[in-house]
Amino acid sequence: MPSDVLVAGGGVGALVLARRLAAAGRRVRVFEASDRVGGQVVPLRVGGVDLDAAAESFATRGDVVAGLLDELGLAADVVTPNPAPAWLHRADGSAVPLPAAGLLGIPADPLAADVVRVIGRRAALRARLDGMLPASVGADAETLGDLVRARMGDGVVDGLVGPVVRGVHSREPDQVPVAIAHPTLLERVREHGSLAAAVADLRAAAPAGSQVAGIRGGMHRLPQALAGDAVRHGADIVTGAHVDAIEPGALVVDGRRIAGDVVRAMPDPAAPPADRVLTLVTLVLDAPGLDRAPRGTGLLVAAGAPGVRARALTHITAKWAWAAEAFDGRHAVRLSYDGEPDDVIATATRDAGVLLGGPVVEVEDARSVTWRRGERAPEGPTPVVGETAAGTGLAAVVGHAERVAAQLLETTQTRPAAAGQGG
Ligand SMILES: Cc1cc2nc3c(=O)[nH]c(=O)nc-3n(C[C@H](O)[C@H](O)[C@H](O)COP(=O)(O)OP(=O)(O)OC[C@H]3O[C@@H](n4cnc5c(N)ncnc54)[C@H](O)[C@@H]3O)c2cc1C
Repeated sequence: MPSDVLVAGGGVGALVLARRLAAAGRRVRVFEASDRVGGQVVPLRVGGVDLDAAAESFATRGDVVAGLLDELGLAADVVTPNPAPAWLHRADGSAVPLPAAGLLGIPADPLAADVVRVIGRRAALRARLDGMLPASVGADAETLGDLVRARMGDGVVDGLVGPVVRGVHSREPDQVPVAIAHPTLLERVREHGSLAAAVADLRAAAPAGSQVAGIRGGMHRLPQALAGDAVRHGADIVTGAHVDAIEPGALVVDGRRIAGDVVRAMPDPAAPPADRVLTLVTLVLDAPGLDRAPRGTGLLVAAGAPGVRARALTHITAKWAWAAEAFDGRHAVRLSYDGEPDDVIATATRDAGVLLGGPVVEVEDARSVTWRRGERAPEGPTPVVGETAAGTGLAAVVGHAERVAAQLLETTQTRPAAAGQGG
């Protein structure tokens, strides 16, 4: 009798795997501790509208998420954000649009007018030296900060890469390994002999159109659709079920040992607790001054900017047309904070005023959610899906879970036609 596949955790990685295995005739059981599946892709009701509590978009590279949405019948609801540039709130308190051609804030042309405008002429000239340095400079860089500093200088790191990387990875450029920042960046620098040329090449190779997309109504529709389809194929999804321990060949769920082929889709219970804490504050504003989207789709904040604690602000209703429609003239903005600031809603209201270039007229509703994030961990003998193995982000998590599912399909057996779901 083939064993059940037991999945610990019910985030997107778990659901992609469970749906794939169930569709191929495996007996799958998913155990999710909270009262709903989705993990970091869950709705947040604010101002009477369901927004996303965390992930709000997916990277379009590789088409892996778009392909999945197509299978789930959601292709017609895939939307791209307003292409207006994001802005940078600089350390001197002024705000400028971010340069158009770059990767993680690294400029493809250091002397382009929009780059000089952000970092100044002297820093731009230093960055231009990148084109004249031997390819070996920065070749042994371990972090993105090391690489950009060696080739383009401090001005690019502090003025551009820092705010972008803090916004994307919640870390400083000196804390992000080059390969995590971009898997082929170092290789391209070696190939082209310059960082700017490597960035230009990677930008040119990227498919035309937006680098990210979302779903009309919110990204949280993805796990809902995945779970619905997995259940239709016979998967058993149990919420409110806490996995206490993961053993070879068994899960301990709420004190009960269940034998089967185990897949971990949650942080390793034996790993140290998540060390990175971030808080997102969503504000619904009655502020007609924001109708013209004075800071595009939002801003990244340079370290040390006076009077602002947030590290980024997204103008949700300027970024997503569906959200603007749902809020019907009101505005929604989301501010990101490292840690858990005291009195965070008052802080966010103040920061929104500074960042959007005028006082916020009236806050109609506000919600704050705190997230704790762990590191990628080395894998043991138990198969793992989700960001602790795949890296952060839905494109990485979905692609990786599809690959793990394909491997498991080779090593597990189909259930007999008459078998039930017990185990
Ligand atoms: C603020 C924020 C914004 C983000 N924005 C984006 C974005 O715009 N685009 C993007 O692509 N990615 C974004 N991400 C990252 C993306 O959401 C994650 O990488 C991805 O959703 C992780 O999926 P996962 O499969 O690892 O599962 P997770 O979402 O980590 O889910 C794990 C699940 O396991 C459950 N669990 C944990 N412990 C137990 C236990 N003991 N027993 C049972 N169940 C347990 C949890 O309740 C949870 O449901 C964002 C993340 C955050 C925090």
